[in-house]
Amino acid sequence: MNSVDYDAVVVGAGAGGIYAVHKLTQEGLRVIAFEGAPDVGGVWYHNRYPGARVDIESYFYCFPDEELYPRWSWKERYPAQPEILAYLNFAADSWGIRPHIRFSTWVTGAQWEPDAHRYRVSTSSGETVTGRYLIMASGQLSKARTPAFPGLEDYRGRWVQTSHWPTDHVETAGRRIAVIGTGSSGVQAVPALARVADNVTVFQRTANYSVPAQNGPLDQQKYADLAGRVGEMREAILHHPTGSDIPLGAGPASSYSPEEQQALLRERWARGGHTMNAVFTDQGTDIHANTLVADFVRQHVRDTVRDRAKAEILTPRAYPIGSRRLCVDTGYYEAFNQSNVDLIDVNADPIERITEKGIRTRDHDLEFDLIVFALGFNAFTGALDQANIRNEFGQRPTDLWSRGPRTLLGLMTRGFPNLFVLTGPGSPSVLANMILDNVQHVDFVADLLRHMGERGHTRVEPEQQAQDEWTAHVAEAASNLLRLNVENYMVHVNRDDGSRVFMPYVAGLDRYVAECEKVAADDFVGFAFS
Ligand code: NAP
Repeated sequence: MNSVDYDAVVVGAGAGGIYAVHKLTQEGLRVIAFEGAPDVGGVWYHNRYPGARVDIESYFYCFPDEELYPRWSWKERYPAQPEILAYLNFAADSWGIRPHIRFSTWVTGAQWEPDAHRYRVSTSSGETVTGRYLIMASGQLSKARTPAFPGLEDYRGRWVQTSHWPTDHVETAGRRIAVIGTGSSGVQAVPALARVADNVTVFQRTANYSVPAQNGPLDQQKYADLAGRVGEMREAILHHPTGSDIPLGAGPASSYSPEEQQALLRERWARGGHTMNAVFTDQGTDIHANTLVADFVRQHVRDTVRDRAKAEILTPRAYPIGSRRLCVDTGYYEAFNQSNVDLIDVNADPIERITEKGIRTRDHDLEFDLIVFALGFNAFTGALDQANIRNEFGQRPTDLWSRGPRTLLGLMTRGFPNLFVLTGPGSPSVLANMILDNVQHVDFVADLLRHMGERGHTRVEPEQQAQDEWTAHVAEAASNLLRLNVENYMVHVNRDDGSRVFMPYVAGLDRYVAECEKVAADDFVGFAFS
């Protein structure tokens, strides 16, 4: 082996990459990681927009590591981006992984070499290395959609993206700010910007459901208790559908009287966040149950937003609640009661172009000092494509996914030996706690590589039948969901026949972990080794 040959090449140094480098070096592998940013953090490095915070409680949105967990303590139930980034730095430093990471370096290509059983990985710095295993820790929501509004090149003010918020100072105090996009990012940014800006104008295309986080100080007693039994906690959250301890659905809506239904809704609302996704067990599949929850949130919008016209535009009606990712906010609807917050429904008043001074819609010519684009991501495939991974036939993984992702356990895809996609489509991914998803995937990969090492194997790939069966199982799990029929970043739509593939695995992290455990216990059945 010469100096540029590694056992594993890891792409990305967010939570998944940090843990992958730590775990695989502990396993005695020779590991190198490449990270485009100048430091660790991944999406938590880039998404530093005002108001950015996580929507999984901090007790669980961290590494379930016996040594690390007691040495850290969060301030809030839902920590803000600076605290999460500080935590990821703490983990990277504690584990001493930085020497293995090349920062400010993008992977520009990864070519599988079938005879050597290695990937030849080229980078933006000109460095080339080879790796036996290629581990994509590049995230599923990391490659941003770029703004494509006519006239943007003429704009003389500053424009930024929530997904790549600049590290230099972005002046927001006293500024006239436009926010385009009202998904999780926009919904979090608006109240934070409205606190300091002269004016915030929100451009909304689809009214999303947003529920209050009910954020507050961390329960230090609960944290200390968990810190004393990290192993047990880890097992418990791995066997929970979302990788946390949020309460599960209380049964079908029809098993409760109208008064009981309302009491349950109020109880979950008071707890806050994603608990509203699981008030009733059938709200994701039965439109009547779903409407009960949706109506409860709609009523909150009307009760909160005093201006009737604004309330009408903000009331979500386009899809059943939870069939797109539920937004979790802190004061979103309340912000529209501030005199400095305006709202434009771009369906009624479309954006025509960006001008030198701002934004021209059909009915308005508005001036802005700052335009904030919160347009979302090329989910699941964007970052994978960016790395330009090629098999021996010159294909990229997504070339084989033209009719939707095909994977074994959402981790490997046939045709790409030795390539692991952490939290990939076909795994619970964005539907569960992403730090835990990453840890579980990395641990599985580490076990699989140890299994291979013990047997002298250097190549692994899913068997065709196992991949077909897993892909069919992922589709079957989503087949009766209301969300399958709603346009959103989790659904792959085949434009020719309208068929749809729901990309994450919806049966729950608990079920997924059980499937992985079964596979591992059966000598990694379904994976072909040589
Ligand atoms: P998103 O949910 O995809 O939302 C993008 C927004 O941009 C939507 O409102 C979309 O409108 C709008 N948009 C896109 N193109 C537009 C156009 N040409 N004109 C007007 N509006 C346009 O993206 P996101 O808000 O960045 O969130 C993505 C995911 O990241 C979340 O679902 C979540 O998983 C994660 N995230 C989580 C948190 C958190 O709370 N922890 C925070 C941020 C992000 P349409 O709806 O009409 O398409």
